[in-house]
Amino acid sequence: MGFVIAIDGPSGVGKSSTSKKVAAELGLAYLDTGAMYRAVTVAFLDSGVDPADTQGVIQATTSADIRITTDPSNQKVLVNGRDVTAEIREPYVSEKVSTVSTIPECRADLVKRQREIIESAEPGIVAEGRDITTVVAPDAQVRILMSADPAARMARRKAELGEKVDSAQLADQVIRRDRDDSKLVNFTTAADGVVSLDNTDLSLDQTVQAITALAEQAGWSKRG
Ligand code: C5P
Repeated sequence: MGFVIAIDGPSGVGKSSTSKKVAAELGLAYLDTGAMYRAVTVAFLDSGVDPADTQGVIQATTSADIRITTDPSNQKVLVNGRDVTAEIREPYVSEKVSTVSTIPECRADLVKRQREIIESAEPGIVAEGRDITTVVAPDAQVRILMSADPAARMARRKAELGEKVDSAQLADQVIRRDRDDSKLVNFTTAADGVVSLDNTDLSLDQTVQAITALAEQAGWSKRG
């Protein structure tokens, strides 16, 4: 296994933008595990499975073929041969993704796929999600739990999604989703050995800098 930076945190905390920048700066690959949960959500919805049909959701998601690139400057996600890179960001996917992430069998399948990607990444990878520091890659050289005040997270999501969402959808995307997501996974208190990084008052660049400093302390040199 190469050098692994594991980053967890709630929605709207800036995990993706931060992780992409850290990866690009340090010459590492990048894995957005949330994109995988989103991709299999599209797969089960595509196949017409009712979200209440747990066995159907398990079947449709665990059998889905997921292709995800790990280039921090060019993310592409394909599910069952279809390019869903843009579609997985649509509010209808954000609304339904917790259906998948609250089913243990679906999580176990995605965790296995994520570990395979992380283990084969050379020279290393920045992987972000909700359970990377605790379940997917607890042996990562750098483990960080990001947090920020809910108001700051809502404001960041709004800036990202713009006119596409009204305030009810925004609250659904941040507050309701965090509540559902935390049913099976703890991403609000740092596990042993995990560094807490509250970025409420930090810019993106300051957040990136804090993480690259931790990577350097852990032995990674910028030239890779
Ligand atoms: O990070 P993002 O908002 O794209 O994640 C989408 C959803 O995927 C989350 O709301 C959560 O339900 C799920 N997820 C998860 N574990 C991860 C990454 C994402 O449960 N490691």
